[in-house]
Amino acid sequence: MKIIVNRIIVKATCPYCGCLCDDVEVTLEDGEIYSIKNACPLGRMKINSATSNVRNLKYLIKSGNDKIEVTVDEAVEETANLLLSADKPILYGWSNTSCEAQRLGLKIAKILRGVWDNTTSVCHGTAAIATAESGIPSATLGEVKNRADLIIYWGSNPLEAHPRHFKRYSYYSKGRFVSNNARRKMIVIDVRETSAARLADKFIQVKPNSDYKVISTLHHIIKFGEPPERKAAEVNINDLMEAAKLIKEAKFGVVFFGLGLTMTGYGYCNLDALYSLIRELNRFSKWVTIPMRGHYNVTGANIVASYMTGFPFAVDFSTGKPYYNPGETTIIDLLYHNECDLLMSVAADPLGTLPGEVVSKTIGMKIIAQDPFPTPTTEAADIVLPTLICGVETGGTAYRMDGVPIPLKPILKSRLNLLSDEELLKKILERISWRR
Ligand code: SF4
Repeated sequence: MKIIVNRIIVKATCPYCGCLCDDVEVTLEDGEIYSIKNACPLGRMKINSATSNVRNLKYLIKSGNDKIEVTVDEAVEETANLLLSADKPILYGWSNTSCEAQRLGLKIAKILRGVWDNTTSVCHGTAAIATAESGIPSATLGEVKNRADLIIYWGSNPLEAHPRHFKRYSYYSKGRFVSNNARRKMIVIDVRETSAARLADKFIQVKPNSDYKVISTLHHIIKFGEPPERKAAEVNINDLMEAAKLIKEAKFGVVFFGLGLTMTGYGYCNLDALYSLIRELNRFSKWVTIPMRGHYNVTGANIVASYMTGFPFAVDFSTGKPYYNPGETTIIDLLYHNECDLLMSVAADPLGTLPGEVVSKTIGMKIIAQDPFPTPTTEAADIVLPTLICGVETGGTAYRMDGVPIPLKPILKSRLNLLSDEELLKKILERISWRR
């Protein structure tokens, strides 16, 4: 008997982290995943999740202590009912879905006079604030790959969070003008010796929450050639002097920063100080900085919100106009101060990721959860809206961590009878617009 197998190779973009690796190859055999090339274990896990049994499969509405299965139209109708009856709904998440879905979410929030926030408020929000104040001296990952001879990772361990970052864009990549890593140098600055730190030419250990002082001291050393009188006591000054020498010798340098800088100590002042240091370094040679964004389209969420409202996250429409004031309008602020009466989560898990003190405020609140996978948020939700996995089962647009837009194409045709985030939100928007 001759068995005929229909085997095709699909060129894909990995929808897991902010690297958005667009050189992934997935071999499909009779429509099922046979092999995945060029993806790291995190990316493979995400792509393989399309065939996982751990999925949200049914549209569910809470009835008493149970959840009952309903049709998609009934689920949309009930979602519209809850959203329209809320005084101040917050629509949160958006970093694991397409820009097209993010746009629709913003339109819904505007009609409802609610709040639209994305996960930036609990990751790189401080960098977004500093960028709005002074601008960010940045570049694309392609420029870094082709030109950077000194790479600094500050408060970030790419080997664990962005496993292909080294190889595709930085230390191990082959650039046009920097052909191999023998010519690149790397400095890692962190509170602990990470796996990336063990590979670095220079590892500088800093005490937790001291980054602002360390950046300021380094800035002084670079500018005046010696440490200031009131230098940071939380770091070895000789280490900083050696780092300053490497920095001054570089022709093209980059600082990649992660949550170890954005969510510690002096918050946005860390980033303000870093951007100021980068501007100083540009007096000697070319220097740029790029955030190490986690969720694959959190950068897109910031860009879409910025071009639609002027603000990158935490946008409050309750006065009819976009209003932005982190410290007052992020999900943390609003839940903590009991200022919202409905939470709609899209492609996120706020109940599994926000601080317990904030999560406890959602008890008794109406929750709508739109997600391909079961999470603590879908578990607690009054309405569960399952969707296809964006970037695996459906397409769209996403922005890489350096702000470059990358198209997402569906890798395989889902066997599930579900809608994409975009299709579902379009239905909800139509229903709300029609009833308003
Ligand atoms: Fe996917 Fe990130 Fe791994 Fe690239 S580095 S394959 S985008 S998880």
